[in-house]
Amino acid sequence: MENLRGVPGFSFPGLSIYDYRFTIYATDMSEVNVKLKGGAGAQIPGPVTVGEALKRLDRDAAKQALAARVNGREVDLAFSLNTQNGEAIQIEPVLPETREGLDVLRHSTAHLLAAAVLDLFPGTKLGIGPALLDDPRYGFFYDVITPRALTEADLPIIEKRMRDIAKRNLQYRRDEIPKSDAIRIFQERDEPLKCALIADKGSDTVSVYYIDGSPFIDFCLGPHVPNTNKLRAFKLLSLAGAYWMGDATQPQMQRIYGTAFFTPAELEAWLKQREEAEKRDHRRLGRELDLFSIQEQYGQGLIFWHPKGGIIRQQMEDYLREELIKRNYSVVYTPHIAKRELWQISGHEENYGDSMFAPTTIEEVEFRLKPMNCPMHIAIYKSQQRSYRDLPQRYGEMGTVYRAELSGTLHGLMRVRGFTVDDAHLFCTPEQVRKEIDDCVDFAYQVLKTFVFDKIKFELSVKGNDTSKKWLGAEEEWAVAEAALAEGLDGRGIKYERIEGEAAFYGPKIDFKIEDAIGRLWQLGTVQWDFNLPERFELEYIGEDNKPHRPVMVHRALFGSIERFFGVLIEHYAGAFPMWLAPVQVAVLPITDRINDYAEQVASELRAGGFRVESNLRSEKIGAKIRDAQMQKVPFMLVLGDREIEQNQVAVRERLKGDIGVMSLAEFSNMARKLVAERALVNS
Ligand SMILES: [Zn+2]
Ligand SMILES: [Zn+2]
Repeated sequence: MENLRGVPGFSFPGLSIYDYRFTIYATDMSEVNVKLKGGAGAQIPGPVTVGEALKRLDRDAAKQALAARVNGREVDLAFSLNTQNGEAIQIEPVLPETREGLDVLRHSTAHLLAAAVLDLFPGTKLGIGPALLDDPRYGFFYDVITPRALTEADLPIIEKRMRDIAKRNLQYRRDEIPKSDAIRIFQERDEPLKCALIADKGSDTVSVYYIDGSPFIDFCLGPHVPNTNKLRAFKLLSLAGAYWMGDATQPQMQRIYGTAFFTPAELEAWLKQREEAEKRDHRRLGRELDLFSIQEQYGQGLIFWHPKGGIIRQQMEDYLREELIKRNYSVVYTPHIAKRELWQISGHEENYGDSMFAPTTIEEVEFRLKPMNCPMHIAIYKSQQRSYRDLPQRYGEMGTVYRAELSGTLHGLMRVRGFTVDDAHLFCTPEQVRKEIDDCVDFAYQVLKTFVFDKIKFELSVKGNDTSKKWLGAEEEWAVAEAALAEGLDGRGIKYERIEGEAAFYGPKIDFKIEDAIGRLWQLGTVQWDFNLPERFELEYIGEDNKPHRPVMVHRALFGSIERFFGVLIEHYAGAFPMWLAPVQVAVLPITDRINDYAEQVASELRAGGFRVESNLRSEKIGAKIRDAQMQKVPFMLVLGDREIEQNQVAVRERLKGDIGVMSLAEFSNMARKLVAERALVNS
């Protein structure tokens, strides 16, 4: 969901603009009693603006602040404080380098954009202009209808005008006016869309914002930065078509996208990363390297794994299965659909129904596709009576699940409608769980290292003191579970961030995030404790005391979605997979057709040795053959000419290093086999 903060009627569902207009006052006192959140307090003669009050409380914070929270509500620094029956008014600055700060900064920059467009193209009609915080591509947009259609060539001109306005250090000013006045203002400006918006969303009084000294005026809730001088690092990125209110029957507009950061260095770094990310985009590389496709005519969000992508997936899965066996897991397979009843017991229908595909009926029995594998593994556990001697039970499955994601949220391999999770569920006694968690953490660490993610971030999400969520499980159970997870990390000397209040409602969890080759963070696997499902399914084991007990259940995935992990890998490696994963490991390239028989012989010997080999027997120049293999990012090329036949040798080229010398086929095979066995990242 796009963040539409600051856009009237979108910001706070159910809260009208009138509710937002609050002034704290009482007439019988002249001193304002203010207090910095978690800090000093002061009595100041009122009325006083938040900015001035902040200056008295914390000079540094006042200098940096972009806006503030007053008793929890976000306001401009120019917001006027009056006395409030002597009760302290709590003030909290909205600072740079925070999510809220970025929101205010980007939203204010969107207004600056609108001001520049109005300045350059008088008569422009404005749509909406929110900040975007979670879209990796953009930081804000503004929808406009200009007297003539804009082109990409206009963007630098508009951006320059934005800079000119920013330098003039103009003030953002808020005004509260009667609704009828606001409508009249926008009628005079011939902005029928704004008039309709105000008529629809505005209360008796509405707030409008000006950028003083510019033609900009907008119906908006704010807050904004106090002046344009705060906006020092922004860039316009692209143009797209848009409809007013996202409705294709409404007037067509143009959407100008841009982004903004707190400092020019941050903007610079982001632009660099963006450029690098475009080069590595898994959708582009997936096409160029023929790894996978999404075919909209057969359904959005569904992945077709092509032969070359299929090989990589098979290697990923084989590696994981190998590890599962070493770690004494059982490998299981479960159905993709189950009776509705199962999803009712598990609570998925109740809590997760919107993300599930609709039921399908066979002989009057309703079935649903599985959105998660957990209940299936529970069914295996429950298939017989378990004794404490049978525990732990560890079930691992490459479990394919289906989720009814909306088309607007789908993105390449990263967000899809059908995907496979390297899912596992552990059922154990409370005494065993500490060691199980320890093994999960070790397992995760090893897997991520193998794929050469050197920077792994661990997060431990706990219940904390948050009483706003409805938590399942008793207080003591939480304490035990959180301690077990924390010890699993501490025991390995792993540094992690403890996040209060972010646990799942059914238990605490550890999340793994990795930083890829260009510094982006990706959330991958998780280890989650579950108080919920063992209760719902009434799981039991017979203890040493011959009485039934409830087992502990742990959910654990390391890749998370294999599709998504593959997408991350493609971008992390920029398509150049290490030897053990590469779909084609060796390209055999004869220099002339005369050598083709020898090339075939070399290729078949390598294949017999277990390598994935392609020989290029086309009548092309050797330079073209090498270039082609380079483009396909094949780790090794064997270049064969007359001399190689005579000496029964191969001339070896490595993808990055180029020529690494002539050797016997046995020598090459040994070197290559070692790389595969070690799952080494870099060749030779
Ligand atoms: Zn605004
Ligand atoms: Zn699960």
